[in-house]
Amino acid sequence: MEHHIISLGAGTQSTDLLLRGLRGEFDVIPSHAIFSDTGNEPKGVYKYLEWLQRFVQEEFHFTIDVVSTGNIFKDALAYVTGESKSSEGIPYYTKNRVTGKKGIIRRQCTGDYKIRPVRRHIRKVLPKAKRVSLWLGISYDEMQRMKQANVKWITHRFPLIEKRLRRIDCITNFRAYQLPVPVRSSCVVCPYHSDRYWLWIYENEPDSFEAAITLDETIRNYPGINDECYLHRTCRPIKEVIVDLIKGKALASKQLDMFPELIEECEGVCGV
Ligand code: SF4
Repeated sequence: MEHHIISLGAGTQSTDLLLRGLRGEFDVIPSHAIFSDTGNEPKGVYKYLEWLQRFVQEEFHFTIDVVSTGNIFKDALAYVTGESKSSEGIPYYTKNRVTGKKGIIRRQCTGDYKIRPVRRHIRKVLPKAKRVSLWLGISYDEMQRMKQANVKWITHRFPLIEKRLRRIDCITNFRAYQLPVPVRSSCVVCPYHSDRYWLWIYENEPDSFEAAITLDETIRNYPGINDECYLHRTCRPIKEVIVDLIKGKALASKQLDMFPELIEECEGVCGV
């Protein structure tokens, strides 16, 4: 028997996937939806998740499972200060102190904070499951983010792509049902943010933006990395970057168009 489970990011696409799934728009109804909380989503995501939990309970008698392996922001600070020995694995941008050459640290956070907690939870609630179809909310316009699971017992499925549904179709669907549209889910401190997303955090969640500044300033001397680390791809302090964004300089530049809401490497798990 195959079990059908949604990996819920609580963003636009995976929430639309959940609601369509519960309404029976696909061949089977999913039995579980699991949200793995990194502890560092924008407040708007948590607020929406609270509403969504109530809504699916009342409408479909369905419970969303929330799991967590820790707070990625606190873990990052603890690693830099030496309180913790294990890195949180955020893919910071790096700049060589002498040559100025830029790079990026290998990402481990998606596996640690998103993928493995979901798998552990599936094992806990379905200990005998041999085959799991894990539905991911990747839309047709982001199909380059599709990736298969690296374990045999899980097959990733992409129902929005099967139906050629784009992000805009998901948004239209929320409006058609007169439901609130989710904000984009992602860690506040994720280096994959576009400039547009950084500006959104700055304007809508000042506390979250302050926390991002704190981490950005803390990681210049990241343990084990000789280069300076930054949250922004230009390898400039986010505090300075935002000033340019506010002035509209970066928004007006063509470069912005090259970077969608998230840069593509979040493995189809974060940010959907
Ligand atoms: S959203 Fe970014 S920082 Fe958070 S787990 Fe995913 S890749 Fe890592």
